[in-house]
Parts: sequence; C-alpha cells; structure tokens
Amino acid sequence: MDGPSGSGKSSVSRGVARALGLRYLDTGAMYRAMTWWMLQQGVDLTDPAAVAARAGEPEITCGTDPDGPSIQVGGVDVAGPIREAEVTGAVSVVAAVPEVRARLVQLQREIIGAGDIVVEGRDIGTVVAPDAAVKVYLTASAEARALRRTAELAGTTVEAQQAAMARRDTLDSTRKADPLSMADGAVELDTTPLTLEEVIGEVLSLVKE
Ligand code: C5P
Repeated sequence: MDGPSGSGKSSVSRGVARALGLRYLDTGAMYRAMTWWMLQQGVDLTDPAAVAARAGEPEITCGTDPDGPSIQVGGVDVAGPIREAEVTGAVSVVAAVPEVRARLVQLQREIIGAGDIVVEGRDIGTVVAPDAAVKVYLTASAEARALRRTAELAGTTVEAQQAAMARRDTLDSTRKADPLSMADGAVELDTTPLTLEEVIGEVLSLVKE
C-alpha cells in the first residue's frame, strides 16, 4: 500500500490486515524511528554523509499486530515521540539518504519474509516488494488529506497541514533514492469521496479477485 501522506494508508492497511487476519507493517514508522534516533544523537541532518555514517547503528524493532503496532529503538518505546512535529519535519530529509533506505529496506524484507502481511509506505510496490500479490496506490485531494491530518492532530490548522504535507510530498517524490511513485501493476484508488469502510472494501475486493 503506497501513497502520499494523508491518503489513508495507515487506517486502510490496518483495516485490511484485521479483516484478513494478517500482520501489518508501517514502514513510515521505521523512517521516523531512525530520524528520532538521529535527532537524539545530535547528528547534523543537513549533512547526508553524517546521516549515512550512523545509519547502521540504531536497533529498530517493530511489532506487526494491526490492533497494536509497536516500534522501539534500542528497546525504548518511541511510538509517541516519532509522531511529534520535530520528527515529522525532519523525516523526509533522513529518508532521502540511500544508506538509510538500504538499511530499512533490508529490515522490512526480513519482516515480510516471515509470512503474509499488509505493508504500507512509499516504495513498497516499487522497491521493497515488487512481487507483492496485490499493489494499491492510494491518493486523495490535497485538501482532503490535510483535513484528515488536522482531525488527527491537536493544535494545528488545515492551512498549516496542507503546507507541511506539500513540502513532505515534494521531498518524497523528487528525491533521487526510490522516490514516491506508482508501482507497475498497482491499482490507483482515489479515496477523496469514499469512507474508510468503502476504501477497505475496495481493497478487500482486489485481494479476493
Ligand atoms: O508514512 P509516514 O508519513 O509516517 O512516513 C514518514 C516519512 O517517511 C515519509 O514522508 C517519507 O519521507 C518516509 N518514508 C519513505 N519510505 C517509506 C515510508 C516512509 O521514504 N516506505
């Protein structure tokens, strides 16, 4: 399940995993965990070589229960801190560093290799699992995406969210390493006019085809 921020990837992926009794992996949480750790370590994120040099260090572990996904760095639960504004503002820069991607893609493939799973991200169908049985690319209008994110977060406005998401989308889709794009064979689903249940239903019908 790929797509830009706010397209509904997390809610849809978790719902589909629940309905099918499958595991679930949020790869964005892994990039956020890496970014949280780099910030903790005081790594200069404007220096890709400095980020690359440390990318192999943090020990990142993810739980795959769709009802309670967990993420830890060196045994520390970081589920809360990785959603904070500082990490959200920095993650696309860290995710653009090829050494970071190589490390996390390897971890993701190890988890995926353990059995059937719903995986969400930006490069799952293109890079991480090009042979996936079902590939979905979720989209939604910029306004709908910003509205959804604003409803999830306290103390923000639709305008501020739309600007922050536009910046992150530009960084994610113009970076050199594995830019966000639709995979060959992916089904594009515009979620703008649909409820969450309707989107989950559409994806489940693709899985059953
Ligand atoms: O999905 P989420 O918004 O939590 O992802 C945070 C960031 O992690 C994205 O903006 C993107 O820069 C990066 N990411 C990525 N590849 C993935 C998942 C996330 O580059 N598979």
